[in-house]
Amino acid sequence: MAYLTQPDYVKYKCSCGQLKPITSLYFCRHCLKIRCGFCICHEVDSHYCAYCLENMPSSEARLKKNRCSSCFDCPSCFHTLSTRATLAQPRQDPAAGAGGDGKVGDGKQAKRVYYLSCFNCRWTARDVGIPDQPVASGGWPERTSPHATRVNQLLDYYKAVLQQEKQEKIEKERKKFAVRGKYITLTDKTGLTGAMARSIAGLPPAEGSSLALAGFTPAVASEEVDELPEDAFTKEVNLNQITSMPQRLAAPEWQPTQVSRLHPIAKLLSVKRSQRCRACDHNLTKPEYNPGSIKFKIELLAYYHVPEVKIISCEMVRPGGKSTLLLKLANPTPHEMTLKLLQPSEVPIEEEKEKVDKDTSLEKSLDKSLKIEKQEPSWNPREPPTVLTQITPPGVTLTLAPRDDAAEYDDDARHEPSHIILWRKSNKLALRLELSTALSAAEGAPARAALALQYSYRNTVPQPGAPPDRDHALRATLLLDLGTVGAAGL
Ligand SMILES: [Zn+2]
Ligand SMILES: [Zn+2]
Ligand SMILES: [Zn+2]
Ligand SMILES: [Zn+2]
Repeated sequence: MAYLTQPDYVKYKCSCGQLKPITSLYFCRHCLKIRCGFCICHEVDSHYCAYCLENMPSSEARLKKNRCSSCFDCPSCFHTLSTRATLAQPRQDPAAGAGGDGKVGDGKQAKRVYYLSCFNCRWTARDVGIPDQPVASGGWPERTSPHATRVNQLLDYYKAVLQQEKQEKIEKERKKFAVRGKYITLTDKTGLTGAMARSIAGLPPAEGSSLALAGFTPAVASEEVDELPEDAFTKEVNLNQITSMPQRLAAPEWQPTQVSRLHPIAKLLSVKRSQRCRACDHNLTKPEYNPGSIKFKIELLAYYHVPEVKIISCEMVRPGGKSTLLLKLANPTPHEMTLKLLQPSEVPIEEEKEKVDKDTSLEKSLDKSLKIEKQEPSWNPREPPTVLTQITPPGVTLTLAPRDDAAEYDDDARHEPSHIILWRKSNKLALRLELSTALSAAEGAPARAALALQYSYRNTVPQPGAPPDRDHALRATLLLDLGTVGAAGL
C-alpha cells in the first residue's frame, strides 16, 4: 500500500496546489476535496507513554513536563531501561551472627529490591549511586533542576506579561464596542480566565501579576568569565569518564560532563493526533482513544476515496517522438465508478483554487508561517509545471467495478479486445495511452506529463434534506514522472 522503497512517480494535486503522493493526502467527504497536511488542522487528542501505554489528560502531561514518571531511557545509550530485582542482604548484626544457626538473626529476611538497568550497554542506576527501591514501579528519586527557581521566575514573568497584554486588548475591545457586561472569549493558552473575568468586571488586576513584573530581575551579561583550571591543558583526559555531547544534551537541565553524574532520563510522552479540515471543520482522521489501539474512528484518507493511478511501464520519451504509457487505475470505493481522462486544461479554473472564506487574516498568517515549511513542489494554476509530454486522453468513459477484497486472490486478469484497455481485474484496469513529446524537449531533462481524472463519487454522508446516496462528478489532477528525456531520432 505504501511504496516505501520507491520514489513517488505519480503525484496528485491537492486543492491548495501542493503535489503529493496519494498516500499522504486526505479526502474531505463534506467539501468533496482532496486535502493535504497543510490544508488541515492538527490537534492533540491525547497524551500517552508509548512504552507503558499509560494515558493521561493534557493538564497532567503539562504538569509532568510531557514525561512518563515510570519509564526511563538509558542516559548512556538511550535504550529503554529495564527494572531488575535482586535480593538485598540486611545488615548483619555481629551479636546475632554468633548464634551460628545459618539464619540471619532476629527473623530478618533477605528483602527484594529493584534497580534500573540497560540491557544494551549494561549501564545500571547503581553505577551512579542511585539507591535500590523497595517497589518495582515508580518511586525513583527525582532530581530538581538546579535552575528551577530561575525558570519558574521567568515563567511567572512571561505569564504576567501575557496577562497584561490580554488586559490591554480587552480594554481596547471594551472601548471599541462600549458594551458593558458582555463577555469576550479569547483563545487562552495559560488558563488566565480569572484575570480576564476581573478585567471584564472592571476590577484592578490581581496582586500576583504586578508583583511578578515588579520583582523580576533581568539577566545581565558579564564580561568576566571564570578562569580555566591550571591543569586544563596538561591533565590527561580519560574518555571513559567524560560524557559525549548527545549524552549531555539529553539532560539539558544538568548537562553532566562526568559519566558518574548520568541519571535515568524519563521517557517523553507521545500524542495521538486528530486532523480537521480547515475549510469545514469536520474531522478527517480521529484515532481510537485507547493508546494500545492503532485503529481510527474516522479515517478519510484519499487512498480510500480517490482512484489510484500507477505507472506500469513507459517507453523512453524522445524529443518530437511518440511513446506508449501503460497505467493501472484502481477504484478504492465500494461503489461502481465511472472515470474519464481529461487534459488538465479542461478542469474549470474555479475548481483550481478554492477560497476558504473563514477568518482570512488568520488564514493569511497561517499560510505565511507554513510557507517556510512547504517544500514539496506546488502547482500554480497560472503557471503549471513545465510539462514536456502531452497525453492524448481517449475520449471514452471507463467503468471500474467496486472494490472486492475477496477478488484480490484471483489470479486471472480478463483481457479485453480493445486498443485502450489492456486488461481488467476486479476493481482495476490497465490502460494504454499515447504520449507525444515536444520537439524542443532537451535530452536529459525530466520528462513529465500531466493528466486529469473525472470520476464519479458516491457520497454516503447523510445530509439534511438530501437523498442518502448522492453521486458527484469529481476531478483530480495528476503529475506523472516519466524519467528523463532520451536522445532524439532513435
Ligand atoms: Zn493542500
Ligand atoms: Zn511509561
Ligand atoms: Zn544503555
Ligand atoms: Zn472539508
